[in-house]
This record gives sequence, structure tokens and C-alpha cells, in this order.
Amino acid sequence: MRRSDVPTPALLVDIDILDRNIASMRDAAAALGVKLRPHAKAHKCVEIAQRIMAAGAIGASCATIGEAETMALGGIGGILVTAPLTSSDAIERLHRLLLRGADIAVVADHPASVAQLAAVAAGAGRTLDVVVDIDVGMGRTGCAEIPDAVALARQIEAAPALTYAGIQAYWGNLQHVSPFAERARLIAIQTERVRAVIAALTSAGLPPAIVSGGGTGSHRIDAATGLFTEIQPGSYLFMDSCYSAVSISENDNPFVPSLFVAATVVSANKPGRVVVNAGWKAFAADSGKPVALRGGPPGASFRFMGDEHGALDFEGGGGPKLGATVEFLTSHCDPTVNLYGAFHVVRGDEVVDIWPIRARY
Ligand code: PLP
Ligand code: MN
Repeated sequence: MRRSDVPTPALLVDIDILDRNIASMRDAAAALGVKLRPHAKAHKCVEIAQRIMAAGAIGASCATIGEAETMALGGIGGILVTAPLTSSDAIERLHRLLLRGADIAVVADHPASVAQLAAVAAGAGRTLDVVVDIDVGMGRTGCAEIPDAVALARQIEAAPALTYAGIQAYWGNLQHVSPFAERARLIAIQTERVRAVIAALTSAGLPPAIVSGGGTGSHRIDAATGLFTEIQPGSYLFMDSCYSAVSISENDNPFVPSLFVAATVVSANKPGRVVVNAGWKAFAADSGKPVALRGGPPGASFRFMGDEHGALDFEGGGGPKLGATVEFLTSHCDPTVNLYGAFHVVRGDEVVDIWPIRARY
């Protein structure tokens, strides 16, 4: 199939650019002396996780039990679930994964959660690695107070079916802060919290073996602190307009967009405007509008026109013709990927594969 013949709206991934992004992050992690556990929340796809593993990652970070299941059943090891699992459904599914022998660790931030994990691991006749999640200023999940983190580590250590594996410190609220120097300044403040947590755990006889964190926007800064043993970025695989707009390192952005939404022009009967078959259902809209690239008129601006439609407004004539394909850069890759059932994998003008996005549930 030709790239322009894909049934639209469709999610395209350029395999060569994806592989270059995978290699760039692998090289960055190696140069910074940290291990790499890229986040599967970005792709939810076994085929992509396999490419990342083949490039030397230690495993897959996962946001949900569904991602962990998909990765485990796809043969991916070194799974770290980075958000607390607390619902009865998630705990039951974790139980089944443990029975199947999945190589999985989870985070926790509450004593009741640790008790629940201890019971499920014991019930499965397994030991389970548990990482203490630390709130480093985002106010989302994680222990807010250092004594709580130490007490949780102690509780994990004391549970026969659990192994205390370390800590997680992730600042999602700082990933896109621009300019880079301001991001580094704000991260430096939170880094002191991480240092204090590690010191308190160490003096309690519980030095963390794993210190995990870091997204696409912070991984260089985080790794350079010397505190982190591993990083868990995800968006670097695909990039989006929000990440493309900020510096990833001191002076450049080594990652290139590999992910595009392809749409078809369904109306072209007005000057300076065409309408495509991609609207609210085709793009995540939390972070702004998509940007027309390939096939789009230069400088066109996108307007959401309903669930299935978007308008492209442009100056002058010569816009795309009825039935033409326009490819868009999304504003936020992760929730856009989650809208599709598969990636159409492209190399140049050819579709070379279709990879299912299995971990949406
Ligand atoms: N780790 C956690 C806990 C996250 O929530 C996320 C993304 O939201 C990431 C890592 C990956 O970050 P990014 O998409 O900025 O690379
Ligand atoms: Mn995201």
C-alpha cells in the first residue's frame, strides 16, 4: 500500500525516524550513565517495545495494568508500573500476571496499598518488587513527606512477599518548562528533595537500589544529577508540536517527529479553506491544535469543526485538492496514539507494516 492510500483518519509512524529516536535516547542514556526503561504509555504497542528492547533498554515503564499485561504477554520483561495500582480489577489482573511469571515491579505510595500488594504477591506464591513513589512537587501521586517514604520502605522490606526495590521521582509538571535553563533551575529545587529522601532512606538502612524518573524534557537534567539510576522517557519516540517547541538539551532537540495523523480533504469548495475528515476524534486537543505538514498548504492553520471534521485555513489559492491526503503533527503524542487501533508503519512513500495498539484497556 502507498502511504497516500491509507484509509483515513490514520496514525502513521515513520519507522526510520522512530529507530533514530530510539538510538538517540539509547546513546544519551549510555553517555549519562543511566539505564533506560522507556515509557510504554506513549506507544502501547509490543512491536515498538521490542525495538526499544533490541536497542538495549532494561524494560518498559507502564502507566496502567493494561499496558503491563500487553507488554508481559508480548514477552517484554523489566516492567515497572509507574502509577499506583489500587482498584480490585487492577489487583486481580496483577495477580494473574504474577501467576504467569511476568517480570514486573510496581510503585506504591500508601500503607494500605503495600498491604494489598503483599497479599496479592503472597497469594500468587511470588515475591514482588515495590518502588516507593515520591511526590516531588507535582502533587499527583507519591509520598509527600520524607518520614512517610521511609515508613513505606520499611513496611515493604518487612513484608515477606515484597522486595523493597527503590524510589520513583517524576516531575511531569516540569517537562515542558522553557527556556531550558528555567527548567533546569526548577528541577534543581526538586532534586534537593530527592537527595534528602535518599539520605533519609540510607540512614534508615534502606538505600534505594533503583532511583527512577525522567521524561523526554527532563532526562538530561535528571541523569546529570547522579542521583538517578534509570530514566523513563516516552514522548521522544514520536515527538509532538509541544515537545518540538522546547529544547531537550542545553542547545538542541535531537528528537525528530516520527508520528503523523493522515486525513483526507472531504470538502474544497471555498477559497482559502479545505475541510479534512479529522476532528476531535482524530487528535487529542489538551495541548492545542495539530499542525498541517505533508500535503498541507504552507502556513495553514487548523480549526476543529466537530467530531469528524477539521478546517485548514490558508492564504491564497492552490490548496490541496478534494480527496488529497494531508498529514498532521499532533500537539500531544500520548493521548493521540490512544485514539487509534494501529500504527500504519511507513518508510518513504510505502506502508511497510501495521502494528496494533493493543494496550488501550
Ligand atoms: N514517567 C511518568 C510517570 C509519566 O507520567 C510520563 C509521562 O507522562 C513519563 C514518564 C514519560 O514522559 P515523557 O512523555 O515526557 O517522555
Ligand atoms: Mn504526554
